[in-house]
Amino acid sequence: MENQIDTQMVRRKGRRLVLFPIPFQGHINPMLQLADILHSKGFSITIVHTSFNSPNPSNYPNFTFHSVTDGLSESEASMADIVALVKLLNTRCVAPFRDCLIKLLADVSEEPISCLISDALFYFSQAVADSLKLPRIVLRTGGVSSFVVFAAFPLLMEKGYLPIQESQLEEPVADFAPLKVKDLPVINTEDPEVFYELVAGLVNETKASSGLIWNSFDDLEQPALATIRRHFSIPFFPIGPFHKYFLPSSSSSLLTPDESSISWLNKQAPRSVIYASFGSLAALSEAEFLEIAWGLANCKQPFLWVVRPGLVRGSEWLESLPSEFLETLNGRGHIIKWAPQQEVLAHPAVGAFWTHNGWNSTVESICEGVPMICMPCFSDQTVNAKYVTDVWKVGLQLESGLKREEIERTIRRLMGEEEGREIRERISELKEKANLCLQQGGTSCQSLDTLVGHISKLESFVFKSE
Ligand code: UDP
Repeated sequence: MENQIDTQMVRRKGRRLVLFPIPFQGHINPMLQLADILHSKGFSITIVHTSFNSPNPSNYPNFTFHSVTDGLSESEASMADIVALVKLLNTRCVAPFRDCLIKLLADVSEEPISCLISDALFYFSQAVADSLKLPRIVLRTGGVSSFVVFAAFPLLMEKGYLPIQESQLEEPVADFAPLKVKDLPVINTEDPEVFYELVAGLVNETKASSGLIWNSFDDLEQPALATIRRHFSIPFFPIGPFHKYFLPSSSSSLLTPDESSISWLNKQAPRSVIYASFGSLAALSEAEFLEIAWGLANCKQPFLWVVRPGLVRGSEWLESLPSEFLETLNGRGHIIKWAPQQEVLAHPAVGAFWTHNGWNSTVESICEGVPMICMPCFSDQTVNAKYVTDVWKVGLQLESGLKREEIERTIRRLMGEEEGREIRERISELKEKANLCLQQGGTSCQSLDTLVGHISKLESFVFKSE
């Protein structure tokens, strides 16, 4: 059988890469940054994307874009249950993605394809790539430390840490210090079995791939990288932080960033502003939203706050803020729908980042040396937040919940006191390490060279057209 296939197909080595991001902002950004990085190394780039949340090709004139129909209805695409949505995408995209790859592989007018690079959450793409004898490299857009925990899910279940029991929340997780049970990366979903299935798909299909790329760097996550090295036999490449390769990086924002953020920041004192943003997916209850609002108002520091439409469940935007709220601020707060986040974090007026600790936000904050107030919502964010506060010690968590007094207290600790000064020093050191790893001879720079060498050795196959 193998021989028969070999006689019908010819081997090809190429310099074209097909990249396939899963359509969420925190995944599209690093995939397109990776595309820019690999393009600068001489590869041609083809981006295959779903029709849902499609990137804007006009921001990337050097790349070729192909859309696959995901078949999501409007209500499916706006589902709050992320687990169900990811599962649906992994089912609906199989046939259209396969058809698209077959066409791309057969297109002799373009350079031969070297490999597919797809998001770890698009785990279905491993089987499709295998069936076409196309090597697949995985991009994991989250951190290495949280991935180690996902990879240990079967063990954590065996030991009774998962599924999480309310009574065990404060228990340390043996062998995963400093994590407690409440820090394990889970997502609330209608059917928890689907979540565990998804994590298994993510981990197992990554193990079956031809390599794994991380938006992280050696000095940040060395112990986790060593763990992965012991348990995964595939090569891996920590080449982050991606967004620092090219400044400014091209925009892959799905929402339009409000540039008034920068003119407003220009008027604020150095390191005085709290930038608050909870990413593209997290949602809050109205009560939580109001505690945040009053916590920010009462702390007396200027703040720039991203309230994404849809952030507050059941609200369009700011309707639930009492009318006197904006008046009490007297210009001390600026609320926007979406920020040019990397630019904001790099602005000298920003003194702290109140974040949900999505991996991109966490890395972006570290790269600008901005200390964090951590408010993880779900999935890997809980692990990232724990590393920020307890391992790298570059931020604080709200210790007794989302209450306005606690918010005020935490902001004061971070912005003013000795504790805050030490945190700023530590994050400045990490920032320095993030800069160094990208320079000639730095760990990420070397890892990128190894990745380029690895891709160049891969071979794909194409059907003979006779
Ligand atoms: N982001 C942005 N403007 C905003 C909020 C977020 O440009 O107002 C970007 C941010 O820089 C990051 C991405 O959106 O690159 C969010 O990714 P992250 O992993 O932090 O969180 P997620 O949205 O996946 O929860």
